[in-house]
Amino acid sequence: MTNIITLPIGDDFHTHLRQFKKVDELCMDARNLAPLGLQGGFQRFLAMPNLKPPITSTAQALEYQKVLEESAPGGTFLMSMYLCNDLSVEELETAHKAGVKWVKLYPSGVTTNSDGGVDDIEEYYPHFERMQELGMFLNIHAELPKSWAPESLNVFSMTAEAFFIPVLQDIISDFPDLKIVIEHVSSRVMVDFIATRDRNVGGTITAHHLLTILDDSLIDRSLTCKPTPKSPDDRQALLDVIDSGNKKFWLGSDSAPHPTSKKLSYACPCGVFSSLNLLPILVHIFEQNNMLLGENGELLNTLPNFISKYGREFYKLPELEGTVTLVRKPQKIPESIFGATPFLHGKTIDWSIK
Ligand SMILES: [Zn+2]
Repeated sequence: MTNIITLPIGDDFHTHLRQFKKVDELCMDARNLAPLGLQGGFQRFLAMPNLKPPITSTAQALEYQKVLEESAPGGTFLMSMYLCNDLSVEELETAHKAGVKWVKLYPSGVTTNSDGGVDDIEEYYPHFERMQELGMFLNIHAELPKSWAPESLNVFSMTAEAFFIPVLQDIISDFPDLKIVIEHVSSRVMVDFIATRDRNVGGTITAHHLLTILDDSLIDRSLTCKPTPKSPDDRQALLDVIDSGNKKFWLGSDSAPHPTSKKLSYACPCGVFSSLNLLPILVHIFEQNNMLLGENGELLNTLPNFISKYGREFYKLPELEGTVTLVRKPQKIPESIFGATPFLHGKTIDWSIK
């Protein structure tokens, strides 16, 4: 049995690091959250822009980036803008020049702080046109809001991702050179859709969608998230596409902490908080699914590619220097970190960072 492995230090291409300005008593503090990803075995992070207020200007993005970098020395933070009426086409150019190359599309009302998101996709075609010219990236929360569909369509949390596919088809065919990433893929139909697109379309996968199904999230509110974890077959499709070495899929943790008191309220917000132990959890999941080690105990390329190669290549980013060594040493995930309940709280996983 292999008891020690060394992995390239990796990228988490989807994380929520929350507020650096206080908006209410319960808001999570970016200055506490930013270092957790480094402790979890990662070095570079794509920080999501759904703050209050959302990030819609280059100046805001750079101010946020500065706070994150100061809070987590050694970390690299890539910044994203929030697609909405307040984000102008001209601002995209300024952002691109400043290295802010990512734009997040939240259909209105589908998840945390998405109320000011997109209601009419075609309204943003001038943005997509400019992004395509500049080589910027469009990251999409791909779930169809109920308000976009007739009632007869049966849109709810288990079908919302599948019903978003026609919207994606339109964007892809109208902007064939636009680089598009479908975030937190959760269903077999979306895996199949992405796998059969061309090289400009990719998808991120979270740790929690690899480990849980709908039933788990009905019991434990720390697992309540969007998109909802789905069936065992959907989860298997995610594992299989990673196992197959498909370059169009890479890690985005979607780590999204909320105060435990809010998660336990009757209006449970969506988000799974996975950043602190992310790499040991991934190693645990990959080993459980025979995706970590080969027959002779050698480390397979599957996990290194998933955490450090495929996403970086798609985004044309430099390779990171450095490695992380993990040992087979059981660790119990804490019940609370900065007032939030982490993914797999109270559970024991087999691996720890050395
Ligand atoms: Zn997210």
